[in-house]
Amino acid sequence: MPTSEPNAPPSPIVPKVAPLAAWIAAGLMALAPAALTRAATEAPSLPEAAIEAARKDLLARHGAGEQVRIDRGLAQVRRVWRADDGDAQAFQEFVGEEFLPAGEPLDATFNRFEFAFERIGGYFVSMTRDLRRGVDLEIGPLLPLDERLAAFSPDAHLSDDLFASRLAFVVLLNFPLSTLEQRLHDGGGWSRRQWAETRLAEPFATRIPAEVNQALTAAYSTADSYINGYNIRMHHLLDAKGGRPFPAGLRLISHWGLRDELKARYADAEGLAKQRIIRAVMERIVRQEIPAAVVDNPLLDWDPVKNTVVVSKVKDAEPPAGASATPDAAREPDTRYRMWQGIFHAQQRVDPHTPDNPSHIARRFNDDREIPEAEVRRLFESVLTAPMGKDVAALIARRLGRPLEPHDIWYVGFKPRGAYSEEDLDQRTRARYPSVAAYAADIPRLLTELGFSAERAAFLADHIEVDPSRGAGHAMGAARRDDKAHLRTRVAAGGMDYKGYNIAVHEMGHNVEQVFGTTAIDHTLLQGVPNTAFTEALAFVFQDRDLELLGLSRPDAAAGHLKALEAFWATREIAGVALVDMEAWRWMYAHPEAEPSAFRAAVVDIARDVWNRYFAALLGERDVPLLAIYSHMIDSGLYTPDYPLGHLIAFQIEAHLAKQSPMGAEFERLCRLGNLTPDAWMRQGVGAPLSAEPMLSAAAAALEAVD
Ligand SMILES: [Zn+2]
Repeated sequence: MPTSEPNAPPSPIVPKVAPLAAWIAAGLMALAPAALTRAATEAPSLPEAAIEAARKDLLARHGAGEQVRIDRGLAQVRRVWRADDGDAQAFQEFVGEEFLPAGEPLDATFNRFEFAFERIGGYFVSMTRDLRRGVDLEIGPLLPLDERLAAFSPDAHLSDDLFASRLAFVVLLNFPLSTLEQRLHDGGGWSRRQWAETRLAEPFATRIPAEVNQALTAAYSTADSYINGYNIRMHHLLDAKGGRPFPAGLRLISHWGLRDELKARYADAEGLAKQRIIRAVMERIVRQEIPAAVVDNPLLDWDPVKNTVVVSKVKDAEPPAGASATPDAAREPDTRYRMWQGIFHAQQRVDPHTPDNPSHIARRFNDDREIPEAEVRRLFESVLTAPMGKDVAALIARRLGRPLEPHDIWYVGFKPRGAYSEEDLDQRTRARYPSVAAYAADIPRLLTELGFSAERAAFLADHIEVDPSRGAGHAMGAARRDDKAHLRTRVAAGGMDYKGYNIAVHEMGHNVEQVFGTTAIDHTLLQGVPNTAFTEALAFVFQDRDLELLGLSRPDAAAGHLKALEAFWATREIAGVALVDMEAWRWMYAHPEAEPSAFRAAVVDIARDVWNRYFAALLGERDVPLLAIYSHMIDSGLYTPDYPLGHLIAFQIEAHLAKQSPMGAEFERLCRLGNLTPDAWMRQGVGAPLSAEPMLSAAAAALEAVD
């Protein structure tokens, strides 16, 4: 559930659900040795005269009525044509033969492409699923071979192959690319075919040289290793009296582990002192005042408030290789910021190859999210400036019985108490689902109760295959119409426990979206949803009804109010984090040559500034740099805005579906909208643009009801 709980480091690429685009993007990120040997760095190579000659020839053949399409097609091909694709003569011959005037041959070619790309993407999806069978399914002991098969990418060279075979050039010559601005301003009036055409051309808009992608992959992986090794040995944190407030052996990764430990301490009567120590650790990391020697080192004790280091007299864990036993207090030399800048410098090398979006910032917002940066900022500010923020903060202070402190941005006390005990629920699910087959057999009933007609429930059940999972469970969609979506679920010997059932219902929501979005959709080029936030929102709608499906009563209105307050407070926190991330990237582009120390100082300033604007008045302290602790900032290249966007999108979709009864037909209509921009999807789906309003009004209503 990546959009609701930023626990795991996300992939550096926001997954686009349109399968071919996703497969090509994945291929671009993979290091293909064959691709590296290709002469891929040459700049666009066609002389103006060649373009002019081709233009005259095409106009003579097809007439002035085709002039706009001819000019567009030539420009689109020229941008990505390299010397090794052929000389001017080859270019002229190619465009002369392959340009199609509007009309029947063009329509037929569009249909062929749509079918072909459904097959290419679809078979790669099913092949990858088959290759991952050993690691994903409970089919006996895991073999070393299983890991190798799972890591093998049969599509690694797909993008290169589509250019080399000139299929990509045929697309670019005949079908339009669009800018985000066009999709936003004109897309509302586009036909489904026009949307499908723009999704057809999009994967070929840019052609990034292999060595640039290699540098990008290397920068992300270096930063990723740095973050993965950034652990704090909690038993070796000393308080003011030299005591050890944290248990032996506890090793927490920054920031997830530290933040989740801080959250868990709300349930602990002695928790506040521990939370303050964790906050001190986080601020030392952000300011790079943390002694480099204490990172992941159980040989040294550290007092993070006084920032002193001594040799530890307590042994609770084996030290990693190279851990120093010398109590060196020298600070970490801005490595954190050097890693972040490493990704920036690698992205700078991509910039000249994406002239429409010549910065990582532009690519992230315009290509990946398809929501302009200014709009994202406006959405976040609408949450951060909502006057109810003060009232929610006051409510939290009342519930805690003390004034708020900066770390209370991570308050988690708005959890509803369950009406049923976990044991009671386990008993019910185990009796109902003794095996994977029992759950599979129940899918038509589950779907009918969720509000789908008997006919649709049967259609869906027929397109969902249920498999025994090694892990907790996941959904794996298909990408061709005749393939099935797979629901992976875990059933222990005594039957399915409640946790497993709850996950299975969530994953089944993904499967239903996948089947409607692939098999029932009008254009497979539009299959999927705009981004993962939409996917998760639709799955949560299912998960939210899991008790009803067991014949029990749903969580009551009070639980809904607590959920709204929890979502608002969490969105507020992560929106602040995202604004820091966004400002930091702007600063890097304004100061491309800066030293890591200057960047560190800038990020601390930015974090303090965002804090003072939106948090200081609520949490009682100024100049706090805590928002800059997120590790995703360092290793994921401007990913953090996806979290608050995910919360807002999920809230808006769930609020819309909550009003539908039965919801089956409306759920299907939403899933069949496909991979439009988030804005177009929202307008056609829920009748309003992307907005924070549903969350803000739910939080306001909750404030009236909760005390
Ligand atoms: Zn999910």
